[in-house]
Parts: sequence; C-alpha cells; structure tokens
Amino acid sequence: LNQHINDELAAWDRDNLMHPTTHVANHARGDAPGRIMTGGDGVYVTDRDGNRMLDGFAALYCVNAGYGRTEIADAMSKQAHEMAYFHSYAGHGNEPAIRLAKMVMDRAPDHMARVYFGLSGSDANESNVKYAWHYHILRGQPEKKKIISRWRGYHGSGLVSGSLTGLEGYHARFHLPLPGFLHTETPHYLHRPDMDMSEADYLDHLITALETMIEREGPDTIAAFIGEPIMGTGGIIPPPEGYWARVQEVLNRHHILLIADEVVTGFGRMGQMFGSTYYGLKPDFMTIAKGLTSAYAPLSGSILSDRVFNVLSEGSDDHGVLCHGWTYSAHPVSAAAGVANLTLIDDLGLVAQAGENGPYLKKRLQEAVGDHPNVAEVRGDGLLAAVELMKNPATRTLFPTMSVAPKVAEAMLRRGVISRAMPEGDIMGFAPPLSITRDEIDIIADALRDALHEVL
Ligand code: PLP
Repeated sequence: LNQHINDELAAWDRDNLMHPTTHVANHARGDAPGRIMTGGDGVYVTDRDGNRMLDGFAALYCVNAGYGRTEIADAMSKQAHEMAYFHSYAGHGNEPAIRLAKMVMDRAPDHMARVYFGLSGSDANESNVKYAWHYHILRGQPEKKKIISRWRGYHGSGLVSGSLTGLEGYHARFHLPLPGFLHTETPHYLHRPDMDMSEADYLDHLITALETMIEREGPDTIAAFIGEPIMGTGGIIPPPEGYWARVQEVLNRHHILLIADEVVTGFGRMGQMFGSTYYGLKPDFMTIAKGLTSAYAPLSGSILSDRVFNVLSEGSDDHGVLCHGWTYSAHPVSAAAGVANLTLIDDLGLVAQAGENGPYLKKRLQEAVGDHPNVAEVRGDGLLAAVELMKNPATRTLFPTMSVAPKVAEAMLRRGVISRAMPEGDIMGFAPPLSITRDEIDIIADALRDALHEVL
C-alpha cells in the first residue's frame, strides 16, 4: 500500500493534531503515521494515496450501515440548511430529535421509558451513573453509590467512564479508577483460573466472586453494575452460557441497577436490535452510540427504564429541575443522521442480514485459521468475532505482550483488509459493517489465513 508521509499535510498532522489513544512521541516524530482517509463506499474506505481497503472493523464498530450512504448525508445537509441548531434545555427541541427518540423507543425493550441523547458513549455512561445515583438519592438511599464493572470492560475514557473501563492502560497515570468504582472478574472461560475447571464450575466461581465483592462492600453501598452484553474492546468475549441470568439474579436481590452498555451491540450487530435481547438482559439503563447514526455524526443515548424514569419524574415534582444536560444534547443534525440511518437499516434489512452472516463470518474465520498451532480460540456472536493467538495454547503461554496481533493486522492491511489488534492480549478483532456480503467476508478470511502464515 502506498503512503506518503513527508508532505505538508502529514507534517501539519504531526505538528498540530493530538490524536486519541496514540503513541504521542512516535506520532510527533513521524515514526507511526496513520492513514488519512478521504472516501468510503459500502464496506470499503479509500485513503488519500488511492489505497482502497475493506474495513473489517467498521471504523471501531461504528459504520453499521456502510460508507457513502447519500440518504444519511442528504438528511444531515437538509437539516443543517433548515435549522442547524437550537438547544433542548427546558423542554425545547427539534423535529428530528423527537422523531429519533420515537424510533429508538419503538425498538427498545418494552420496559424502557425514555432516551436522553448525548454525544459519545463516554458521556452517555456518565449520564447513566449520575441518573443511577440520583435514583437512589431520591429513594432515600444516598449511600448506594459504588459502581461495579468488569476487568477488560470498555465504557469510555472520561473520568467516570474511564473509571468504569477495566483496562489498565486507561487507569495508569490518570488517578483512575476514582474511589467507589470496583471491578469484578472478566467472564472468559479460556482464561479460567484453573485449567481443570468445568464451565459450570467456572460460572459458579464468577458469581461467587461477584457476591463476595457485594457482601464485602455492603449491598447498601452499591448503586449499579455495568457491562457490555458481549465484551468488545477487552477482546470480543461472549458471556458464558447462563452468565447474565445469574448476574441479574444477584443484582435484583440487592437492588443494584443494571446498565447494559450497548454502544457496540446496539442497532443490529448481534442480528437483533440490541445485545440485551440477544443475551436475555433486562437492564435499567442502555447506553447507545456508534450504530445509532452509523457514526455519520456524533450521537449517543442513555435509555432509561420505567422504574428509573418514574422515580426521576416524581423527584422533579418534589425538587424541581433535574440539572443534568449537555449543550449539544439531541443535536438536530446528528438526530437527522440517526433518523435516516435507522430508516436505512430497516429498509435494507441489515439487522436480519447481520444475523444471517454472523455465523458465516465465524465459520470462515475458523476455516481460515484451520489447525494453526498458535490459535487458542475463534469466538464471537453476530457480526463480532475474534481470533486469540498464544505462543502455546495448550499451556496458555502468551507471546511477549502484544507482539503478534499488530503484526498480523499489518500483514492483513498489506492485503487490503483492515482488522483490529485488540488492546489486551494477542487478539485479532472483526466487526465489519452490517451491510457486508458473504463474498466480502471471504476476502477477510483469506487475508487472515495468508497473514497468519506470513507472520507465524
Ligand atoms: N462503551 C463501549 C462498549 C464502547 O465500545 C465505547 C467505545 O468504543 C464506549 C463506551 C465509549 O464511546 P466513545 O468513544 O464514543 O466515548
């Protein structure tokens, strides 16, 4: 692939722009230039050097509807021309936001009551935590304040959302997690503490660990538990069979609210509208972002359950205005993108298509790795899959930290396919646009097979 790194634009990038989650010095020195993308169509993106690449990760699980959708771009343009912005404070608003809220709530599980729009997954999780605290305060239990999440969960990188995240790199040297943000075990059978443990025993072990934490901290001090229905950034880890039913039984017993972080799973990636329905969660909050607009514009949401909404509503009658809000909440241009995006997903039947092609993706990845001795696991549900690599899977011996997956990802990129070396462990991640076809899935699988054999 061509990449010119010494021209003016590349120099301006190095000298002016601070990038998210990037090796600062390497970027500033020009040792690790990123690609500057200029176009997209379907599942392909093109950079300014003319390279066309199949995006097997939908730009961080975002572009569910695929690139180059004129319907979405036109809706945004029309809205920007007619009425670019008016705030939503004090009950004001705009037509696309109201329409989008109706569309979201029509799709959400029946027990959900309202959606509050934000801009990012991180800020939506901040809203959820504040609403959970507010709920318990209004119900006369202000000491119910701690939040439990899981190691390797990803919920954002703000002060609160970064505290919820369970990845060491997001905590170290940032004074995180903040006090009162606890992490319980990652539910991943491959990494069970004892190789001889059965799956049933492992599930018991996870639930005991959670209950022990709750008892130790005191159930009356815990406000909520947050989890992605299937872990994403931590390594694309489907929950063990029966995990969510057991977790919810514990939470309900202690009146601990459940936040389902659906930023990756929302709007079709599992072949159903939400991961909560796919895995049988009954959450009090659902966090949505990415797929809500297919990232054509920034937009996120906190969906609140009946029981939470009713307490917040009664609280306003007693105490007045609920003072929580962002200026850009329910931004009309983003909301117009959301309406057009959800309409397109329906019209093209992309949720059903993801459901049909998900198992095909997993099967083709399994075939691609064959019996390669360094593959510890091929896993996933819906259009979300991962291949975990180890030096010796039989003894669970890892490669020196993160040495191999980035090389496989580079080798795949040389073959024109974008994948993601996940941040923890040697894990290759796949999350293509929902519009991907089987022929395009074959291209991903072939590139993985060849890249794996080139690197290992
Ligand atoms: N929650 C989950 C499950 C995510 O995957 C992400 C981002 O990848 C976030 C929250 C944070 O979203 P944002 O980066 O928009 O703040």
